[in-house]
Amino acid sequence: MTALPPGATIGILGGGQLGRMLALAAAPLGLKCHIYSDVPGPACDVAAASTIAPYEDTDAIRAFASAVDVVTYEFENVPLEAAAAAEAVKPVRPGPKALAVAQDRLEEKTFIRGIGIPVAPFAPIDSEASCADAVGIIGEAGILKTRRLGYDGKGQVRVKAGADLPAAFVALKGAPSVFEGLVPFAYEVSVLVVRSLAGDIRFYDIPLNTHKDGILDTSTVPSPLPAAHAARAQEIAGAIATALGYVGVLGVELFYLPDAAEPLVVNEIAPRVHNSGHWTMDACLCGQFANHIRAVAGWPLGPTDRHSDVTMTNLIGADVNAWLQLAAEPDAALHLYGKPEARPGRKMGHVNRLKPHQAR
Ligand code: AMP
Repeated sequence: MTALPPGATIGILGGGQLGRMLALAAAPLGLKCHIYSDVPGPACDVAAASTIAPYEDTDAIRAFASAVDVVTYEFENVPLEAAAAAEAVKPVRPGPKALAVAQDRLEEKTFIRGIGIPVAPFAPIDSEASCADAVGIIGEAGILKTRRLGYDGKGQVRVKAGADLPAAFVALKGAPSVFEGLVPFAYEVSVLVVRSLAGDIRFYDIPLNTHKDGILDTSTVPSPLPAAHAARAQEIAGAIATALGYVGVLGVELFYLPDAAEPLVVNEIAPRVHNSGHWTMDACLCGQFANHIRAVAGWPLGPTDRHSDVTMTNLIGADVNAWLQLAAEPDAALHLYGKPEARPGRKMGHVNRLKPHQAR
């Protein structure tokens, strides 16, 4: 197992803000990044090289993989064929297995339950006829979610008791789906775990996340999660990373039910750096982006310890127009993604507001 030396190039599938922050974190380690994206994106502005081509263009993927030393990705909907084409040429970290599991909610829930970790009760739906079976398992009320391409609450319909599940299935255009039982959670938490090529595991502190219009709004650490439950959440995330043979940063989103016998139920995983870990850039010695780069490059992991309390606030759409005031705030680190147009719902940047570390 050899670590890539400084001067090596990391290929990143995806050209968004996560790719941008990965490339920025690679630079202080003397590593270069080459972005592959179907459209020019914010990552291209800060990378040593870019390839703009469709993800379906396997010749272009192979040429890209030949030009780099290792391939990683910054979004979970990288087509599996693209990851496989790259893997035939260079190592892909995290491996395509993590992509396959995370891209399909049915595979994801089946895999996680299969390693003994609780998930919401679920049943597959692939036809109007299968709805009756699903109601038999889950009950009438639940959430119908498409197996693929759902995010930030998109591709899902809440179904109330007495409502018509087949109608919800038709509303999702008959896409293969899962019907999930409702979990009566107090709040949601996310665990950021990083696993090295050698199998070492480290965790970041668990933030309290708030959402606005289905999009992450803030992440705050420390969170009120009791230490024993935080440790259990980390144990779960570590078990998933290990079972996947994962290399890099993995986000695990969980429902928290403080009084339940099993207080932590996994909702979904993100096989990449995660928005709820953006605070680590400024409040930790080695943030999630730097640690993902270290892991995929075969380096030892950096310290995940937090030296400050922090609230990360996303700048969505027009929020970014306050950039000049934000830039003048003391104790605030401003990160702008360089996107040209502040469209509603678009992640334009984030701000990390730091406070001296308070021991809990
Ligand atoms: P997801 O796209 O799976 O992250 O779902 C979006 C949001 O819907 C979650 O963050 C929860 O707030 C809510 N949600 C999803 N699944 C469930 C569930 N089984 N029970 C209760 N709330 C859920």
